[in-house]
Amino acid sequence: MKKKPIAEPIISPEILELAKKSVETEKPPATESCAVCGALCTPLTGPQASENLCWVCRRLKISAWRDSDQQMSAQE
Ligand SMILES: [Zn+2]
Repeated sequence: MKKKPIAEPIISPEILELAKKSVETEKPPATESCAVCGALCTPLTGPQASENLCWVCRRLKISAWRDSDQQMSAQE
């Protein structure tokens, strides 16, 4: 009894070509240096877009805000 050859999915060259083109035309995300640590980061889009912070510093900043908020409310 012969084993049946496993049919591999054949990707048509047209689809391959399209996929290649879509990768080539897709622009890499613009990166900026983090204003705090200098790491490459993707600039924010939105109200805080002027600040170039990597996600680490962004999180640190957000947690710092939360801390100061808690301290403010604790003092009242
Ligand atoms: Zn940073």
